[in-house]
Amino acid sequence: MTTDGDTEFGGWRACDACGEAIASPDEAALTVPPELIEERRAGIAERARALAAGEEAAHVSTGLIPWDWGHRACFPPRDEAYFVEGARIATMPGMLAQTLALMDREWFLETAWEDAVRRFYRIPFE
Ligand SMILES: [Zn+2]
Repeated sequence: MTTDGDTEFGGWRACDACGEAIASPDEAALTVPPELIEERRAGIAERARALAAGEEAAHVSTGLIPWDWGHRACFPPRDEAYFVEGARIATMPGMLAQTLALMDREWFLETAWEDAVRRFYRIPFE
């Protein structure tokens, strides 16, 4: 197992929304749609209600909500709490600091943050 490069920055990915390259992290962000978090919660709550009532529960997606990466201008306006500026994750210490900050958000564990981090950094699984 090598240690050099395990946490190497993988480069800026193209915009998820428009597919164009990201020239500078200053113009981009990671973001998660709050409406998808709400939909996921509503689906889980409805499923629990149906099960408790002895009804057939509809299938609901309980998967984690993926983060989108791209140009700020390519995403609809939403609360700043659901954005992480590209410049803040341009280094591994920055990414770690953002991870710790996000852990304070009550919805954080409902998102696929690990996948977002692994899009930019090669991190050993163990
Ligand atoms: Zn874009």
